[in-house]
Amino acid sequence: MIVRSIYKPPDPSVAATASVPVTGDPNVRFCKIPCCSSGIKQRHLMCAQHWFEVPLGLRDRITQTLHAWLEGEDTVVPYFIARLEALIHVGKLHSLDVAALEAQLNTWRARQAKAGGSNGSEQQAIG
Ligand SMILES: [Zn+2]
Repeated sequence: MIVRSIYKPPDPSVAATASVPVTGDPNVRFCKIPCCSSGIKQRHLMCAQHWFEVPLGLRDRITQTLHAWLEGEDTVVPYFIARLEALIHVGKLHSLDVAALEAQLNTWRARQAKAGGSNGSEQQAIG
């Protein structure tokens, strides 16, 4: 089993053979999956290949919570939870070490439980 940290930056020698050339364009970055050297748009989480490894329902949650957040709704916590679930799901498919991501996920879930929301769209208590 190959174990790599999910945070390991892409290997430059691998990046040289990326399917999308790295042009120095600030709007292009690497796919969040460490074994992947694909260049993606800044607003994307993963390359198309990895994105379609994420279950459809989870992809929908990421998209919906992100769009709601951008429209001013308080969905930041459910967005980060869904995002981490997707990274963990794909990381496990590729035998990556996802322990750090799982720790982050637990922190976000605790935060959500504390806020009392199951979907995060409820009004959070102030004070
Ligand atoms: Zn990828």
